Amino acid sequence: ATPTSIMVGTGRAAEMGVLFRNGEALQDLKNTDIVAVDKTGTLTLGRPALTDFTVLNGFDEGEALALVAAAESNSEHPIAEAIVIAAKEQGLDVPDTTSFNSVTGYGIEAEANGRKIEVGADRYMRKLGHDLTAHADISKALGDEAKTPLYAAIDGKLAAIVAVADPVKETTPQAIEALHRLGLKVAMITGDNQATADAIAKKLNIDTVIAEVLPAGKVDAIKQLQQNDTHVSFVGDGINDAPALAQADVGIAIGTGTDIAIESADVVLMSGDMRGVANAIGLSKASIKNIH
Ligand code: ADP
Ligand code: MG
Repeated sequence: ATPTSIMVGTGRAAEMGVLFRNGEALQDLKNTDIVAVDKTGTLTLGRPALTDFTVLNGFDEGEALALVAAAESNSEHPIAEAIVIAAKEQGLDVPDTTSFNSVTGYGIEAEANGRKIEVGADRYMRKLGHDLTAHADISKALGDEAKTPLYAAIDGKLAAIVAVADPVKETTPQAIEALHRLGLKVAMITGDNQATADAIAKKLNIDTVIAEVLPAGKVDAIKQLQQNDTHVSFVGDGINDAPALAQADVGIAIGTGTDIAIESADVVLMSGDMRGVANAIGLSKASIKNIH
């Protein structure tokens, strides 16, 4: 593209809330074959709510939820906020914690009232040595409803099956339709449960699902999609997304995200609206055509 067509393209993009951080991105975007998208906070609001809290092994529901909320009050994960809010709404007295540790991509552990509390994904509970066979059906059913199933253990005993649900953004279905109309494939990459990811993907007509990815595994997921010279643009928001944004052929950060993610991105969608991705790719195609 000529410098003029790039300027016209980036100027028009800016009016649409799409910020190109370099001229190359405007040219490269038109080569996109697959748009890979982070789930939480990009396709979904990133603001889950607690939907289920089922106690196991005779634990008292109020006591268990108060202890789980105590542990989660130390975590910055959106799941944590959902659980703390639910405990407060129920008027529970959430104790202070005396220790806390977060196991990235798995869950958390903490101590409160002299009790040990562990909360996280099924893979976390398995890592801790819990046998989940008796609960696999419930877990799968929650996932099929697009909820994220979690487990809580207290003093080393399974205490509750917990679920949260994160609503899909209102604009997400249109954003995906627009990408399909451009002839592109859409892939979702997430640390969330496989069944949950599959249920959301089915609702949204997403072509490829890569689930239960640990934060460090997102780069490998992008590389996997890039095989055979496939051009992958990645859309993400979180701190964990910075390496994936850098690995992608074009990294697109959505504007509600962190400064770190934005710095690793070639394109920033200022409004946090994923419909900007198709607009940006459309502009890239148009500004290249202009010079012929
Ligand atoms: P994503 O950004 O896709 O949600 P994360 O790596 O942040 O991926 O989290 C992956 C999974 O780890 C979550 O779906 C959840 O099962 C578990 N997890 C992470 N943090 C917490 C937490 N504070 N409480 C309970 N579970 C958690
Ligand atoms: Mg995330």
